[in-house]
Amino acid sequence: NTHLAQGDPEVAEAIEAELRRQQGTLEMIASENFAPVAVMQAQGSVLTNKYAEGYPGRRYYGGCEHVDVIEQLAIDRVKDLFGAEHANVQPHSGAQANAAAMFALLDPGDTILGLNLAHGGHLTHGMKLNFSGKLYNVVAYGVSEEDLEIDMAEVERLALEHRPKLIVAGWSAYTRQLDFERFRRIADKVGAYLMVDMAHFAGLVAAGLHPNPVPHADVVTTTTHKTLGGPRGGVILCKQELAKKMNSAVFPGQQGGPLEHVIAAKAVAFKYAAGEEFKDRQRRTLEGAKILAERLLHDDVAEQGIGLVNGGTDVHLVLVDLRNAQLDGKQGEDLLHRVDITVNRNAVPFDPRPPMVSSGLRIGTPALATRGFGPDEFREVADIIARTLLTAADDAAALDGLRERVNALAAAFPLYPELSASNAD
Ligand code: PLP
Repeated sequence: NTHLAQGDPEVAEAIEAELRRQQGTLEMIASENFAPVAVMQAQGSVLTNKYAEGYPGRRYYGGCEHVDVIEQLAIDRVKDLFGAEHANVQPHSGAQANAAAMFALLDPGDTILGLNLAHGGHLTHGMKLNFSGKLYNVVAYGVSEEDLEIDMAEVERLALEHRPKLIVAGWSAYTRQLDFERFRRIADKVGAYLMVDMAHFAGLVAAGLHPNPVPHADVVTTTTHKTLGGPRGGVILCKQELAKKMNSAVFPGQQGGPLEHVIAAKAVAFKYAAGEEFKDRQRRTLEGAKILAERLLHDDVAEQGIGLVNGGTDVHLVLVDLRNAQLDGKQGEDLLHRVDITVNRNAVPFDPRPPMVSSGLRIGTPALATRGFGPDEFREVADIIARTLLTAADDAAALDGLRERVNALAAAFPLYPELSASNAD
């Protein structure tokens, strides 16, 4: 890092401080992870210099022989990983993957049916300020008030009533597996395309620990930086018959030059995701989330009106339900921040509090599983979280004690030791 430290000490210092923050705290934002150093090396490479509009073998620029190799590796690996017929690895992000997929399948004004943002959907599934809400006629399905699970009867009813051209299945804050077969049947009934946005759970799918949407959906989009643990970016997978349309929607439809340095990092991440270590990590991720759920359902927590959306979890996160608690989402997030645990507050379905406060916390285990945590460490984290949420904000001594337990865990599982200042060159 000497070049950066000398050339731009202000940026270098802030990066160094961010490294220390990641090392010294416990990262439990469900959409975050720690990319392997190999992934970051690919991303920080000379590939950032290269223009490569087009696709491998069909570029609009010269000198693409090496980036062609790299992009083809990324395509082949991600197709293998998920059993897809076609892959486009160029979307700069998950949002851009979704924009391109919709651009390929829809005309402005067409109707889409997606999960309500307030019930765990993503902005790109039809939120009114997002491109999806502005370009398309949005109908939203939600979860049932009883069990807070996606109400498939409602999905079907709305599909029959509104005849959407596209049904979107996928979520940013939900804890159950989706019924892809049922979504497929509903889409077929009304002649809609089915798009699954597996951004959150793609790593679980890659490890064989979550049903794979690829056989059921016309198009599957994902990010590469959440459970997949790669660089920030997006991918589109689809049937061969949609390949041309998808490629053209990404470039020239939505984007110019692809980020070949990020594509190289994606290729590395896909290689890692096919390995045994990755599977083990995803197993620990799921186990950790279950341990967390169990602890947060104990009587001491329940007595304070704190519960869990869906009463548990089948994925890599839990959603703490504070609708009946004194504590709100903002206060919960702040308390955990004080003990060096990073989470995000999140609206829960039928949330009585405004979104900036909210009545939920989204707590995920992928980053800590990557850090090496197993059941014992997750039990300790779960207990710290439960106790923190039961601690009064003015009880500094208790919070200090809990933070010390967090710091001990962080110290026992060093993150990026090879990147620490003393080791950097
Ligand atoms: N889709 C889902 C389900 C997400 O949760 C997210 C990220 O939060 C995205 C898409 C967007 O990804 P990005 O932030 O890379 O645009």
